[in-house]
Amino acid sequence: MAFLDKTARSFFLVELLQGLGLTFRYMLKPKVTLNYPYEKGPISVRFRGEHALRRYPNGEERCIACKLCEAICPAQAITIEAEPREDGSRRTTRYDIDMTKCIYCGFCQEACPVDAIVEGPNFEFATETREELFYNKEKLLANGDRWEAQIAANIAADAPYR
Ligand code: SF4
Ligand code: SF4
Repeated sequence: MAFLDKTARSFFLVELLQGLGLTFRYMLKPKVTLNYPYEKGPISVRFRGEHALRRYPNGEERCIACKLCEAICPAQAITIEAEPREDGSRRTTRYDIDMTKCIYCGFCQEACPVDAIVEGPNFEFATETREELFYNKEKLLANGDRWEAQIAANIAADAPYR
């Protein structure tokens, strides 16, 4: 009986028709796939992506060179050098992050008293060389300038839960 049943199923293309039926059923349903990179899914406001150094609206750097982020970084990925400016304020002269060491724990962001170093929403920063992942202050400030609107919106959205 099993042989006859198998033969009949093959002869009448039962599996093929079942497969086509499934295809036609899903043709009419909403798509669950995204046409990345042209379409992107939503990400959390707490998403920990590429790092950025932020400025105040007047253009002044937020970072006051307290080095808390450097001290807390478990991967020792952050290197900071600082000296006072002529007006007595303290600012970094060097702020490097070795992104090849970073484990995206977010501790640097949590430790920062002035919301200067943040992990922004950008997740598309793959590179072809290791050297491109050695970020310096200029690169981090440029990231901050580029993503400030979204970073500020994310921090404001998350504020009630902190
Ligand atoms: S996210 Fe974590 S590992 Fe990466 S730089 Fe910040 S503290 Fe260090
Ligand atoms: S980024 Fe924040 S925690 Fe790190 S040195 Fe600057 S002010 Fe301090």
